[in-house]
Amino acid sequence: MNTSASTSSAATLPRIAVLATGGTIAGSAPDASNTAGYQAGVIGVAQLLAAVPGLDAIAHIHAGQVASIDSKDMSLALWSTLAQRVNELLASDEIDGVVITHGTDTLEETAYCLHLAVKSAKPCVLTAAMRPASALSADGPLNLLNAVTLAASGAAAGQGVLVAFNNRIHCARDVVKVSTYAVDAFQSPEVGALGWVQDGRVEFQRKALRPHTVDTPFAAPAQWPLVEIVASYAGVSRVAVDALVAAGVRGIVVAGTGNGSIHGAVQQALADAAARGVAVVRASRVGSGHVMHNGAAKDDALGFVSAGTLNPYKARVLLLLALAAGIGEKAALQRLFDTY
Ligand code: ASP
Repeated sequence: MNTSASTSSAATLPRIAVLATGGTIAGSAPDASNTAGYQAGVIGVAQLLAAVPGLDAIAHIHAGQVASIDSKDMSLALWSTLAQRVNELLASDEIDGVVITHGTDTLEETAYCLHLAVKSAKPCVLTAAMRPASALSADGPLNLLNAVTLAASGAAAGQGVLVAFNNRIHCARDVVKVSTYAVDAFQSPEVGALGWVQDGRVEFQRKALRPHTVDTPFAAPAQWPLVEIVASYAGVSRVAVDALVAAGVRGIVVAGTGNGSIHGAVQQALADAAARGVAVVRASRVGSGHVMHNGAAKDDALGFVSAGTLNPYKARVLLLLALAAGIGEKAALQRLFDTY
C-alpha cells in the first residue's frame, strides 16, 4: 500500500491538540553540549511549540499540559488520565487529531496502551526526543513538526496510535526503543516502520493488520490490577515469583530466554502461581521474533499463555487491560494475545 498526503491549505487547517507529558523533548541542561546530564520534563508545552517554526501553516494547535515527568516514572494512573483526555478530545467536533509529547523510556508502553484503549479513528500520534530541548542539534522540534504533520494528514486516520520519530512512522504495537543514546532510537523489529514523514510529506508504505482502538474491548480503568514482570536467566531462583504471589499479584509476564523458555526453578514457581489463579504470560527477553504457543506438553499443562510477538513490556500492557476488562481465563487470554 502506498498512501501519501501533503499538508492542507491555510483555509482548511486541521485542528490538532498537542498534549505534553514531559520527557527529554522537554528537557533542559546547563549547556548546549550536555545531552545526558539534563533534567527531563521541565519545559512547558508553549515553549516546545514555540521552538517549531512553521507549525501554524500546518494546523491550528490547541496546547495542553497533562504532566511534566521523566517517563521512567510513568504511572498507570497517568495512563488512565491520558486515555480519558485523548478520548474526550477526539470525540469533540472541534479536534481532528491528537499529538502527545512523551519521554522515550516508556513511550512504547504508553503508545500500545493508547492503541488498545483509545476509542476513535481520528489520528493519535506520539513523539519524543533523545536530546534535550537545550542541546545542540536537538531532535525534538523536527520530531514534533513531523508528528503534527502526520496527525494533520488524512492518511493517519484509522491507523491506530502511531509514533513519529526520526522521520519514520511506527505502529504503536510494534515500536520499541533500541538505543540508549542514538537519535535513531526507535525501530519496529521484524516488521519495520509503516512509512515516513519528511519535509511536510506523509507516506505510508504498509498497514498494520492487528485490530486496535475502536475494534478492541479495552478501556483504561480507574483501578488497575497488579501485574508484574519477572525474568529468566542463569542461576535465577523462584524468590521473586513467590514474593509476587504472596503480594497478591493478578498477572505475571515472564521475560524468558530464547523462544520464551524458562529456567526450571522459575517455571515451577510460575506453574504453582497459575494453579492459584495468577495469569502467567510467556514472552522473550530476546527483543525480536515471536513466542509460539507450545501446546499440550508445556503451556497447557503448566497453565501459561504465550505472548506471540509482544515483548514483555507490551505483553504486560495487554495483560493489564485484559484483567481490567475481567478477562483472565487462560484460553480467553490466549485468544487476546493471538488477536491484539
Ligand atoms: N528519561 C527520559 C524520559 O523517558 C528519556 C527521554 O525522553 O529520552 O522521559
